[in-house]
Amino acid sequence: MRLCRFNHDRLGAVLGDTVADVSAVLETLPSLRWPLPPGDMLIANLEHLLPLIERALDRAPRRPLSGCALDSPVANPTKIIGAPVNYQKHIEEARADRQINVGNDVRTIDYYGLFLKANSSLVGQAAGVILPSMDRRHDHEGELAVVIGQVCRNVPASQALQYVAGYSVALDMTVRGSEDRSFRKSPDTYSVLGPWLVTRDEIADPGQLDLWLQVNGADRQRTNTRHLIYDVPRLIEYASSQYTLHPGDIIMTGTPEGVGPVIPGDVIEAGISGIGTLRVDVSEQRGELRTK
Ligand code: MN
Repeated sequence: MRLCRFNHDRLGAVLGDTVADVSAVLETLPSLRWPLPPGDMLIANLEHLLPLIERALDRAPRRPLSGCALDSPVANPTKIIGAPVNYQKHIEEARADRQINVGNDVRTIDYYGLFLKANSSLVGQAAGVILPSMDRRHDHEGELAVVIGQVCRNVPASQALQYVAGYSVALDMTVRGSEDRSFRKSPDTYSVLGPWLVTRDEIADPGQLDLWLQVNGADRQRTNTRHLIYDVPRLIEYASSQYTLHPGDIIMTGTPEGVGPVIPGDVIEAGISGIGTLRVDVSEQRGELRTK
């Protein structure tokens, strides 16, 4: 099933070019009091909700997909985990291009480990990417995203896919420069997830998916996830050897070669076979003070 969060926290099932509004099933979620359990409540209860969503489909109001504003399908991850340089050809381009490596050595994922992006950077495609007003190169990184379904720790690769709720397309947007990855990859809107969540039963093998990214209709990135250095099971094993993973945690699996800059006015489209295509407008932050 393809589940989307749309028009300010409605829950939808995507059926071709329509969205069935199944928000009524959310009434069955437990009501919570402080302190909230870690993780995303929708994802944590997905096994229980899926049969209810199936039953609700017939009578659910339908809307055209094109008229729906899509938010991140995961609302409350405890962390967004990134995999640095996880495709060999991306390592090679990063080593060769000083605008990418900014004078640093480029080593491999077993040297760097994983990194975390701020949860406040997470948006869906409707929000668009808003570049911070920094005189820097801002790059797109199209990636396969894995959404964890259950609490787990020390998961062996051989069992890892059982702990997956589903998959999405992700943009791991990046400011080029000398600062730590957690700073350069965490401005607001620098983690885009969507266009929806495809449940794990629809993806037979996350290691056999075509991935592509275009800017303004021109090809930038194209690969297949079989070229991942650490594949999805190994990334879950690696991440869960350090962190307890909670429902809704997101692993961005790394980007292939072809990373490049975007500027205000650009349109990024990123797609993965069996999942869908994200379409994101790029604009520039105006720097106004924002408080509640
Ligand atoms: Mn990345």
